[in-house]
Amino acid sequence: MKTVATRGGYAEQYFPNSETLMPDEMRIVALGTGRPFLRRSQANASWLVELGNGDKFVFDFGFGSQMNFTALEIPYSSINAWFATHLHTDHVGDFAQVWVGSWAGGRLQPLEVYGPSGPEKKYGFRHFCEMQMESYAWDTDTRVGALPAIGAKLNIHEFDYAKNQTIYEENGVVIKSFPAVHQFDGPVSFRLEWNGLSFVYSGDTTPSQIFIDNAKNADVVVHETFNTIEQLMDRSGYDERTARAIGTYIHSAPEEAAVVLREVNPRLAVIYHFFNDFDTAPEMQQKVREHYVGPLVMATDFMVFNVTKDKIITRMTEFSDHVWPNKSKHEGFGKAERKPMLKMSDWLKKAQLFPKENSENGLVYKGKVG
Ligand SMILES: [Zn+2]
Ligand SMILES: [Zn+2]
Repeated sequence: MKTVATRGGYAEQYFPNSETLMPDEMRIVALGTGRPFLRRSQANASWLVELGNGDKFVFDFGFGSQMNFTALEIPYSSINAWFATHLHTDHVGDFAQVWVGSWAGGRLQPLEVYGPSGPEKKYGFRHFCEMQMESYAWDTDTRVGALPAIGAKLNIHEFDYAKNQTIYEENGVVIKSFPAVHQFDGPVSFRLEWNGLSFVYSGDTTPSQIFIDNAKNADVVVHETFNTIEQLMDRSGYDERTARAIGTYIHSAPEEAAVVLREVNPRLAVIYHFFNDFDTAPEMQQKVREHYVGPLVMATDFMVFNVTKDKIITRMTEFSDHVWPNKSKHEGFGKAERKPMLKMSDWLKKAQLFPKENSENGLVYKGKVG
């Protein structure tokens, strides 16, 4: 008999689309766990949360993270909403991919995005989205004739960064936002609650009482931490002032994050937002263990957490580098409305070897190849 390695009743590794979530189960996938300096092993911040009721949410979409998202081969139309903690590029840098990539990838409904306001309009999420969209005018205006026009549509939900409030409530899922203490007014952290399970995601924050109060006793708490001051000086070549500014003034040092985790006391604490390498991890862990002795995972990209009332299982995802869009929800593609294509100048058109005309019935060949 063939023996299959298992981990707490699950396959040893997680293969996307091979496991059905139980009705009372939550699955969390780390899509990006690194630092603003993008590298192949760790994309910028992003976390996917999938629920047993079929709902799916993405928290942050930093640079590179969306390549990890597509590796999971989830139909874009299955994502209920995308949430941004703040407007640093390592948290929202893949905006264009989330918007246009998902559209080209088959999304047949408007994109639902949530993000915080700022102390001024120009620092708010709505402004960020609108300016991004405007800057991509050539891109989207050339696409609406070929792709379903609905995919260009974005529903922007901007909420007050300073409030401790519910920003999403549907289908038994409650998502709350509360202020994060990160450099300037605007950043937030999130708490998702569903079916007696909870997931808290810090985004970027220095240790704060607000976080402790809102994360208390959650099932899974993902808290940021940066590499140690020594690592930043030695490996990144920062002077001590810069290292301290980044590692403690802007972010949580590992020993600081540990104090927060001790107070929060989650079923599982996850730290992310640092370069997690064989030669940095031991020192990071040591610093955390100075103050926090509970269950701990040091995240890296493609870690997957299955959460139920009874247990939390942590594994790695096995994926293909050669994925295509998941087409299981593409049946509406042909019928979806298009807009007229933009017309290029006649002199450009005349240079075309095999001219095609865009008519009511679609693209019509005017000449023959060969
Ligand atoms: Zn940040
Ligand atoms: Zn960050």
